[in-house]
Amino acid sequence: MNLPDYIEASRRTKLKKDIEYYNNDIKNIGLGKTYHIKTYGCQMNEHDTENLKAMLEELGFTYNDNYLTSDLVLLNTCSIRENAHNKAFGMLGRLKHLKEENPNLIVGLCGCMAQEEGVVSEILNKYKWVNFVFGTHNIHRLPYIINEVLNNNTNEIEVFSKEGNIIEGIPVKRDSKYKAYVNIIYGCDKFCTYCIVPFTRGGQRSRLKEDIVKEVEQLVKDGYMEVTLLGQNVNAYGKDLNLGYGMEKLLEEVSKTNIPRIRFVTSHPWDFTDGMIDCITRHENIMPAIHLPVQSGSNKILKMMGRKYTKEEYLTLFNKMKERIPRVSISTDIIVGFPGEDREDFNETIDLVNKCKFDNAFTFIYSKREHTPATKLKDNTPLEEKERRLNQLNEIVNKYFLENNKKLVGTLVPVLVEGISDKKNELYGYTDTNKLINFKGNDDIIGKIVTVKVTSAKTWSLDGELYDK
Ligand code: SF4
Repeated sequence: MNLPDYIEASRRTKLKKDIEYYNNDIKNIGLGKTYHIKTYGCQMNEHDTENLKAMLEELGFTYNDNYLTSDLVLLNTCSIRENAHNKAFGMLGRLKHLKEENPNLIVGLCGCMAQEEGVVSEILNKYKWVNFVFGTHNIHRLPYIINEVLNNNTNEIEVFSKEGNIIEGIPVKRDSKYKAYVNIIYGCDKFCTYCIVPFTRGGQRSRLKEDIVKEVEQLVKDGYMEVTLLGQNVNAYGKDLNLGYGMEKLLEEVSKTNIPRIRFVTSHPWDFTDGMIDCITRHENIMPAIHLPVQSGSNKILKMMGRKYTKEEYLTLFNKMKERIPRVSISTDIIVGFPGEDREDFNETIDLVNKCKFDNAFTFIYSKREHTPATKLKDNTPLEEKERRLNQLNEIVNKYFLENNKKLVGTLVPVLVEGISDKKNELYGYTDTNKLINFKGNDDIIGKIVTVKVTSAKTWSLDGELYDK
């Protein structure tokens, strides 16, 4: 049994990170059995689930859309906020009843929550019936863990707390035939005071440029139209490798593969260089859409958050992007109610939002995360006041989303058509600036980039008509 350990998880060394290659010699142990995976959280987790699916299918399991009738249910969890945490425990509660009716049901938990000391101890005390738990550093070990559970009827807890290695060659079953996630950097060394990611995902470690480019080249051959380069902080790409290249060089190389669309998330303002901005403007296949989390507009709060930039520095970077990258859309993340945030601080955030007029923003009330430094800060603001601030902020950001979308009415936009929308009998897709758009058309253009004329705007989407295929 390997249990999570926060002290080990926060250790950072200058040692070169090993590259391991996925190798599985276990076969057929899942034949005749079905699996279901519930995924919580960010794109990193969504992409990990694509790996988990492929590994399970290599073992002979088949996917079942319904967890109630599956033989194996795996929860790929998220630690970023209490909400995701509660949802996963709520799901475990439902699975407990299923397990009582069907003792052969296999239940596993993985992802960021598996790296939390408190979560694993709760599972060991109150959820002993969970068959296996594994962390973010050993998803490639899934076949061996399941083999143990099935053959030896054991409960497996295998969570490694370390900086982590790079594992190449894990199979992947992608959810989309047109858009693909590609990991470029794992972990984070920023240690923002509210964030548990540096403990759950390990140290910053970049994949080699050659391995990333090879993966994208294969995606081009397979007909993919878009890649999203993934990392907790993609702008730090390459810093740990000491090979003389960083994110700018990587973008250049990925651009040369001629994949029609390149996106990347998430960017920390600290590491966003002028070179990266120039690189985006030089290459038509790097999309003019940037997610640039600001978190707060108050310098006092930014300092307490450990974000290492000021409001003024953020605005300088923001304005530079707006000036240099034609038509760029910029989205952000904002936390309200961080410990110590008073009305004045909150008003600074509103002021920043009024200056930036973001195209999209993910807004949250601060969520206390186990073991993070911010948990020690005094927090005198009542929840009702935090909710008031969030509502006020949401009204303002929504106003700007609509305002920005309205500016597009009458223009022609390139759209990657992704499918048929659920609500209406229409196609949907995303513009280069990452705006959702619905329009009428035949399904033979799904997977293609077409030109659409924007006819009307809503807060979170556009409507249009097909202009050119
Ligand atoms: S940059 Fe900060 S917020 Fe983002 S993952 Fe790292 S520690 Fe968390």
